[in-house]
Amino acid sequence: MSDHYETLGVARDASAEEIKKAYRKLARKYHPDVNPGHDDEFKAVSVAYEVLSDPQKRRNYDAGGGEYGQPGASGFGGFSDLFDAFFGGGAGAQPGPASRKRPGRDALVGVSIDLKTAVFGGTEDVSVVTAKLCDTCHGDGTRPGTSPQTCSLCNGQGSVQRMTRTLMGQMVTNQPCNNCGGYGTIIADPCQSCNGDGRVRAEETLSVKIPAGVKDGTRILLSGRGEVGPGGGPAGDLHLEVAIREHPVFTRDGDDLRATVTIPMTAAALGTTISLETFDGERELEIAPGTQVGTTETLAGLGVGRLRRSSRGDLLVTINVEVPSKLDAKQRELLEQLATMRGETNPDVKLGNTHRGPFSRLRDRFNL
Ligand SMILES: [Zn+2]
Ligand SMILES: [Zn+2]
Repeated sequence: MSDHYETLGVARDASAEEIKKAYRKLARKYHPDVNPGHDDEFKAVSVAYEVLSDPQKRRNYDAGGGEYGQPGASGFGGFSDLFDAFFGGGAGAQPGPASRKRPGRDALVGVSIDLKTAVFGGTEDVSVVTAKLCDTCHGDGTRPGTSPQTCSLCNGQGSVQRMTRTLMGQMVTNQPCNNCGGYGTIIADPCQSCNGDGRVRAEETLSVKIPAGVKDGTRILLSGRGEVGPGGGPAGDLHLEVAIREHPVFTRDGDDLRATVTIPMTAAALGTTISLETFDGERELEIAPGTQVGTTETLAGLGVGRLRRSSRGDLLVTINVEVPSKLDAKQRELLEQLATMRGETNPDVKLGNTHRGPFSRLRDRFNL
C-alpha cells in the first residue's frame, strides 16, 4: 500500500496549500483524458487528495488507518466531472469565435476506362456531383449587400463564461455560445442560393489524365478537387478509382497483353506469315512450320505501357489450330494419301496425363 504523502510527493507536515498544489499538478499529468493508461496513478492521486485535503480524514489517516486509509477504497464517482470543470473539459477548446469556413470533404468517384487507354494512357472525361462555391455569396452565406451581425449574447466571442461550484471553490469555464453556435456572429439574412451554407451542389465534368500502365483499382488523387467546405472553406481531395473495361480481344496480364489466334491446320504444319490487328495497328507474325496448338508467340513491346517508365510489356499470342471439319472428296483423298505416306492410317497412340498435353496447356492458360 502506498503512502498518501508519497503519492502526492509532499512532506508529512505539508500545508493544505502545498497538498492542493501537488495534487493539481499530478491530476493534470495522470488524467485519463490527457494521458491515457495511467488510471491507477490517477486514482491513487485522487484518493490521496481526498484524504489529505480533509482535516478530519487526514487526522484519521495520520493516526493509522480509517476507511480512507487504503488507496482505491473509497468510491469516487463524479471526480472526473470535477476535473473537467476545473480544467475546462479537455484540451480541444480554443479561444475566440469559431470560423464558419470548414474544410471540404474528400470524394471518391469511379472512372471506367477502356483497355487501350490503360495501354497508352490518355485523357478521360469524368462527371462528378460535388459541392462548389456559391456564386451568389462567394461562400459568405449572407444575402449580397448584407453581412453577419455580431452576436449580442457573447459579444462576438463565440463563447460564454459560466461559474461552476466545485470542491476546489468556484471555477470559471468557457462554453460555446448557444445563440450563435460559437461563431460569434449570426447570419440574419442568409443567401437564397445556398441557404447560408456558402456552397451549392453542382455537376462538374473534369478532364482527367490517365497514365499509361494504370491498373484496375488504381486510385488517382486530384488534390483540392473534392467538395468545397461549408462557408467556402478549402476543398477536399478527389480520388478517382480506375476500373478497366474488358476488351473483346485482349486480356491484360500485368504489363503484357494476351490474345489467341486460330490458324488452319495446313498453316500450322507448313508455316506461314499471318497479319494481326493490334492496338498499334497491323503487325505480321511468322508461324514456323510444325507449330503446335498452344504455342505462344511474343510480339515484343506491344503490351501495356509501364507506369512511370517509357518501356512497354509484350503482346503474347497463343496459337490455336483449326482442324477442318468438312472435307470434299478431293480434299479427303489428298489427306488420306498424306496419312498413308506418314503411316498414320492406324496411328500408334497411347493415353497420357491430362495435365501434360498441349490442349490442357491452352485450357489452363485461359481457364476454360
Ligand atoms: Zn450563397
Ligand atoms: Zn454568441
